Amino acid sequence: CGIVGYVGPNADGKALDVVMEGLARLEYRGYDSAGVALVTSDGVDTEKRAGKLVNLREALEADQLPGATTGIGHTRWATHGGPTDQNAHPHRGGADGRLALIHNGIIENFHSLKKGLVAEGVTFESETDTEVAAHLVAEAYAGTGDLTEAMKAVVNRLEGAFTLLAVHADSPGVVVGARRNSPLVVGLGDGENFLGSDVAAFIGHTRHALELGQDQIVTITPDSHEVINFDGSPAEGKPYEVTWDAAA
Ligand code: GLU
Repeated sequence: CGIVGYVGPNADGKALDVVMEGLARLEYRGYDSAGVALVTSDGVDTEKRAGKLVNLREALEADQLPGATTGIGHTRWATHGGPTDQNAHPHRGGADGRLALIHNGIIENFHSLKKGLVAEGVTFESETDTEVAAHLVAEAYAGTGDLTEAMKAVVNRLEGAFTLLAVHADSPGVVVGARRNSPLVVGLGDGENFLGSDVAAFIGHTRHALELGQDQIVTITPDSHEVINFDGSPAEGKPYEVTWDAAA
């Protein structure tokens, strides 16, 4: 299972290529489904398929999503809900589905959170533990209009192990990630930035990395990265250089 996030320059809509390359480099970790979300001028497009990356590639070729500068990608190792297209990530949140979220790990208290959301009238499209986080971050975003604030409000309610990435149609050029008991690394590029569950996700593009600590949130744009703790206080990741050789 693996996670990739990317934000790049406006003139150059290559997010899908970068994300798919990252997923291919993470394949060694094993997975049963894969999916991507791209922020485009008319919203968030997602594509997801059970099975190997080739299934996702075929679906993407058939659909020809528009170019995008912001994207996230996921390979899933199912823990809650079988390996189906529907249960594959990304999951959408909000009545309008303008938020997309991916997750590695297990949200232990998803059942009680789901009960609360269902009582509010939220409908679920998957059997995953993950989908609660998509709806909760979308709700929080509707209140604040700030994806980092929305993530911060929600992660403090989640128990278990998670690396989460979220994008929102109304926040183009931004990917927000969070981690607890599960890894998340930032890749620092020149006018572009990356997130990965491990450095393999972006090793084809940069060797400058930043490892997030426990219970931290990171927000990347093409030219910035900002780390905070779950309590909102400022934080810094641990910088390091990747020295091992990646096969082309
Ligand atoms: N628990 C989540 C699911 O079953 C994420 C699994 C993973 O780490 O890929 O969908």
